[in-house]
Amino acid sequence: MMDCVFCKIINKEIPAKIAYEDDQVIAFHDINPQAPIHLLIIPKKHIASIMEIDEENGGLLKEIVRVAQNLAKENNIDKKGFRLVVNTGEEGGQTVQHLHFHLLGGRFLTWPPG
Ligand code: AMP
Ligand code: ZN
Repeated sequence: MMDCVFCKIINKEIPAKIAYEDDQVIAFHDINPQAPIHLLIIPKKHIASIMEIDEENGGLLKEIVRVAQNLAKENNIDKKGFRLVVNTGEEGGQTVQHLHFHLLGGRFLTWPPG
Protein backbone atom coordinates (compact mmCIF):
# COMPACT_ATOMS: atom_id res chain seq x y z
CA MET A 1 0.00 0.00 0.00
CA MET A 2 1.39 3.37 -1.09
CA ASP A 3 1.24 5.50 2.01
CA CYS A 4 2.10 2.79 4.50
CA VAL A 5 5.41 3.24 6.32
CA PHE A 6 5.78 -0.50 6.93
CA CYS A 7 5.12 -1.33 3.25
CA LYS A 8 7.89 1.15 2.45
CA ILE A 9 10.23 -0.73 4.80
CA ILE A 10 9.24 -4.02 3.10
CA ASN A 11 9.96 -2.45 -0.30
CA LYS A 12 13.28 -1.01 0.99
CA GLU A 13 12.08 2.52 0.18
CA ILE A 14 12.96 3.60 3.70
CA PRO A 15 15.69 2.06 5.84
CA ALA A 16 15.20 -0.17 8.86
CA LYS A 17 17.43 -2.42 10.90
CA ILE A 18 16.14 -5.75 9.66
CA ALA A 19 16.45 -8.70 12.05
CA TYR A 20 14.76 -11.37 9.93
CA GLU A 21 13.17 -11.68 6.52
CA ASP A 22 11.58 -14.40 4.40
CA ASP A 23 8.99 -14.38 1.62
CA GLN A 24 6.05 -13.82 4.00
CA VAL A 25 7.37 -12.12 7.12
CA ILE A 26 9.85 -9.38 8.02
CA ALA A 27 11.10 -8.28 11.45
CA PHE A 28 12.97 -5.07 12.23
CA HIS A 29 13.99 -2.94 15.19
CA ASP A 30 11.45 -0.42 16.44
CA ILE A 31 12.64 3.14 15.78
CA ASN A 32 11.55 4.20 19.28
CA PRO A 33 12.39 1.19 21.48
CA GLN A 34 10.44 0.74 24.71
CA ALA A 35 12.70 -2.02 26.02
CA PRO A 36 16.29 -3.21 25.40
CA ILE A 37 14.83 -5.60 22.82
CA HIS A 38 11.98 -4.13 20.81
CA LEU A 39 11.35 -5.73 17.44
CA LEU A 40 8.37 -5.45 15.13
CA ILE A 41 7.29 -8.58 13.29
CA ILE A 42 4.97 -8.00 10.35
CA PRO A 43 3.45 -9.83 7.39
CA LYS A 44 4.74 -8.63 4.03
CA LYS A 45 1.16 -8.56 2.80
CA HIS A 46 -0.54 -5.31 3.79
CA ILE A 47 -3.11 -6.30 6.42
CA ALA A 48 -4.44 -3.32 8.34
CA SER A 49 -5.02 -4.96 11.70
CA ILE A 50 -5.66 -8.23 13.52
CA MET A 51 -9.35 -7.66 12.68
CA GLU A 52 -8.52 -8.48 9.04
CA ILE A 53 -7.18 -11.95 9.85
CA ASP A 54 -9.45 -14.60 8.39
CA GLU A 55 -9.50 -18.20 7.22
CA GLU A 56 -7.55 -17.30 4.09
CA ASN A 57 -4.62 -15.37 5.58
CA GLY A 58 -4.65 -16.91 9.09
CA GLY A 59 -1.65 -19.11 8.27
CA LEU A 60 0.46 -15.98 8.55
CA LEU A 61 -0.09 -15.95 12.30
CA LYS A 62 1.67 -19.29 12.60
CA GLU A 63 4.61 -17.95 10.62
CA ILE A 64 4.77 -14.80 12.76
CA VAL A 65 4.73 -16.84 15.97
CA ARG A 66 7.52 -19.05 14.60
CA VAL A 67 9.60 -15.93 13.80
CA ALA A 68 8.85 -14.50 17.27
CA GLN A 69 10.03 -17.74 18.91
CA ASN A 70 13.25 -17.75 16.89
CA LEU A 71 13.96 -14.08 17.57
CA ALA A 72 13.28 -14.61 21.29
CA LYS A 73 15.85 -17.44 21.28
CA GLU A 74 18.38 -15.40 19.27
CA ASN A 75 18.03 -12.53 21.73
CA ASN A 76 18.25 -14.84 24.73
CA ILE A 77 14.86 -13.86 26.14
CA ASP A 78 13.05 -17.12 25.38
CA LYS A 79 13.60 -18.42 28.91
CA LYS A 80 13.76 -15.09 30.78
CA GLY A 81 10.46 -13.99 29.26
CA PHE A 82 9.17 -11.39 26.89
CA ARG A 83 5.95 -9.88 25.61
CA LEU A 84 4.32 -10.21 22.20
CA VAL A 85 1.84 -7.35 21.74
CA VAL A 86 -0.64 -6.38 19.03
CA ASN A 87 -2.09 -2.92 19.57
CA THR A 88 -5.37 -2.67 17.71
CA GLY A 89 -7.42 0.38 16.76
CA GLU A 90 -7.46 3.84 18.23
CA GLU A 91 -8.12 2.96 21.86
CA GLY A 92 -5.70 0.05 21.57
CA GLY A 93 -2.91 2.44 20.70
CA GLN A 94 -2.37 1.34 17.09
CA THR A 95 -0.58 4.14 15.22
CA VAL A 96 0.55 2.27 12.10
CA GLN A 97 -2.25 0.67 10.11
CA HIS A 98 -0.25 -2.38 9.01
CA LEU A 99 -0.54 -5.39 11.32
CA HIS A 100 2.53 -5.67 13.56
CA PHE A 101 3.55 -7.72 16.56
CA HIS A 102 5.80 -5.99 19.09
CA LEU A 103 8.38 -8.34 20.60
CA LEU A 104 9.52 -6.68 23.83
CA GLY A 105 12.06 -7.97 26.28
CA GLY A 106 15.35 -7.54 28.06
CA ARG A 107 13.87 -5.94 31.18
CA PHE A 108 11.09 -6.60 33.68
CA LEU A 109 7.88 -5.48 32.00
CA THR A 110 5.15 -4.05 34.16
CA TRP A 111 1.49 -5.03 34.17
CA PRO A 112 -1.06 -3.68 33.57
CA PRO A 113 0.18 -1.62 30.61
CA GLY A 114 -0.81 2.06 30.51
P1 AMP B 1 1.73 0.88 17.30
O1 AMP B 1 1.68 2.11 18.14
O2 AMP B 1 1.39 -0.39 18.03
O3 AMP B 1 0.95 1.03 16.01
O4 AMP B 1 3.26 0.68 16.92
C1 AMP B 1 3.86 1.32 15.86
C2 AMP B 1 5.34 1.23 16.15
O5 AMP B 1 6.04 1.50 14.94
C3 AMP B 1 5.85 2.24 17.18
O6 AMP B 1 6.43 1.54 18.26
C4 AMP B 1 6.84 3.08 16.40
O7 AMP B 1 7.96 3.45 17.17
C5 AMP B 1 7.22 2.15 15.26
N1 AMP B 1 7.68 2.80 14.04
C6 AMP B 1 7.07 3.80 13.36
N2 AMP B 1 7.77 4.12 12.26
C7 AMP B 1 8.85 3.29 12.24
C8 AMP B 1 9.96 3.14 11.37
N3 AMP B 1 10.13 3.88 10.27
N4 AMP B 1 10.88 2.18 11.66
C9 AMP B 1 10.75 1.42 12.76
N5 AMP B 1 9.71 1.51 13.61
C10 AMP B 1 8.79 2.43 13.38
ZN1 ZN C 1 1.46 -1.70 4.74
